[in-house]
Amino acid sequence: MQRLGNNIGGYHGKTIEIQETLREIERAAVEKNWTLDHVPGAPGFIACRRAVPSPRHRVYISTGIHGDEPAGPLAVLQLLRENPWPGDAALWLCPCLNPSGFPLNRRENSGGIDLNRDYRHLQSAEVRAHVQWLGRQPDFDLALCLHEDWESHGFYLYELNPDRRPTLAESIIASVAPVCPVDPSPVIEGRPAQNGIIRPAFNPMDRPQWPEAVYLVAQNKTRLSYTFEAPSDFPLPVRVAALGAAVRAAIRLLSAAGGGE
Ligand SMILES: [Zn+2]
Repeated sequence: MQRLGNNIGGYHGKTIEIQETLREIERAAVEKNWTLDHVPGAPGFIACRRAVPSPRHRVYISTGIHGDEPAGPLAVLQLLRENPWPGDAALWLCPCLNPSGFPLNRRENSGGIDLNRDYRHLQSAEVRAHVQWLGRQPDFDLALCLHEDWESHGFYLYELNPDRRPTLAESIIASVAPVCPVDPSPVIEGRPAQNGIIRPAFNPMDRPQWPEAVYLVAQNKTRLSYTFEAPSDFPLPVRVAALGAAVRAAIRLLSAAGGGE
């Protein structure tokens, strides 16, 4: 599978009509008995919760924090419709953290703020509302943040795992590889990578700006997080399949590993 070659200086592939996608997400969630929260303080920000009778694992999934990364919201829509979840997994889902960025096909929100750098200083209404909502939820065993990278040569992921819990990274990559190329580069985004896996040093106090995943781990909202990056110079259905395969694999592996409550 080859890159399309569309992305010159930024993302120039297919875009989505985010309000329509969010309406479909709401419909699919309600149909599958998820609970919807309309989060105050940020227009268009919704969250969905899937309760189960005796949860052993709590998993948080978010996407749509960058308005030029359409595969994430589409992937969670497809997952909601397919409903592939293990019976013991309670789930929390934020399907679009940056509703004002998508109509502009822009990474930042309509005010020009990169929301995924705003979790230390909370300058945007979206991130303030998100953090307040997170404060009302329990802690999670696993957090998955779904992204795309317009420059990358294939799928890759970041792992934050400061307590050195059993890693899911290699198995997630193995589950994605049949549906999407994995980025083989030894350096991705300036960090050492191996077979599409980046394990950054976890040093939040040295970082002037916090992405969502760093916030979640630094605040002990979770102690294991994966950020998935689909390669957005490939066809949109391939990227949706890659993110979907990664989410399914992570949750299946967590369930299979046992533990939890
Ligand atoms: Zn992103």
